[in-house]
Amino acid sequence: MELIDGNRIAAAIAAELKQKVSALPGRKPCIALVRVGEDPASVSYVRKKEKTAEEIGISSRVILPPATISQAELLTLIDQLNADEGVDGILVQSPLPKQLDELQIFRRIAPGKDVDGLGTMNLGKVAQDDDTGFVSCTPAGIMELLARSGVDLKGKHVVVLGRSLLVGKPVALLALQKKSGANGTVTVCHSGTANLAVLTRQADVLIAAIGRPEFVTADMVKPGAVIIDVGINRVADASKKTGYRLTGDVHFPSVAPLAAKITPVPGGVGPMTVAMLMKNTVKAFEQRSQRS
Ligand code: NAP
Repeated sequence: MELIDGNRIAAAIAAELKQKVSALPGRKPCIALVRVGEDPASVSYVRKKEKTAEEIGISSRVILPPATISQAELLTLIDQLNADEGVDGILVQSPLPKQLDELQIFRRIAPGKDVDGLGTMNLGKVAQDDDTGFVSCTPAGIMELLARSGVDLKGKHVVVLGRSLLVGKPVALLALQKKSGANGTVTVCHSGTANLAVLTRQADVLIAAIGRPEFVTADMVKPGAVIIDVGINRVADASKKTGYRLTGDVHFPSVAPLAAKITPVPGGVGPMTVAMLMKNTVKAFEQRSQRS
């Protein structure tokens, strides 16, 4: 079994970006990070994004509207950031408080600044195999992890557990694309799927993104499969200072010995998500510079 080290691969991407950014004359790329309210996971994700940006030399503008912000006010903020010449990328940290329509917010971000890739235009470009857009960061990170670990999906059966807009659907489309490294045969499973384990046992590459702690067990996995665990779940653990531990959607102790390659949680897909956000921000900056 080989551990796919997301921290190491993400650090390599950050180093490549740092070199690229340091060679840029004049203004550096800038990302606006919008975090609404004080959701503890969002606080830590945005802090990590801000820190990684700083390490690479990307400037960040952190905007912290209160949890009580209205839809109209948040749309106005997005409009201001869309019009701001100094901002190359905009990220609105999900999840948003219940009163807000997340999809409408994502759609309002100008496609050229939509570095989280969740707007209609950028998701559509993924479906069209069009590389000019921004691929949403977690699916892009999964594809990059696979590529940099020497996993070619051509001829492989890729089974995706989960069909969310954030992970399952776009990663399935990426694995399906008719291009080098992809070209997989893809099955997508969800809560309405019958005989789930029969399907997961057929997977050469299993991508688990369902948000159920340690759901995938050894009996659901084909020996020699590549396992990508996207899940980040907080499970109560009195032995930890925080009172919880992080676990994936895969039961690592029983599945890892069977797998050819597997990502750990934490330290697998998580760091890649942040690295791809930075990569998209530099791409947005370059595209805007070319246009002006
Ligand atoms: P989500 O929006 O809640 O979607 C979960 C998906 O899993 C849905 O499609 C759901 O099916 C399916 N599902 C749930 N329970 C199932 C079951 N028992 N059997 C089969 N399918 C089931 O979650 P998400 O945003 O995709 O996130 C998934 C996990 O990845 C979470 O743990 C999240 O924290 C993590 N995540 C990690 C990163 C990272 O950077 N590593 C980024 C994003 C998310 P239905 O569609 O039928 O409801």
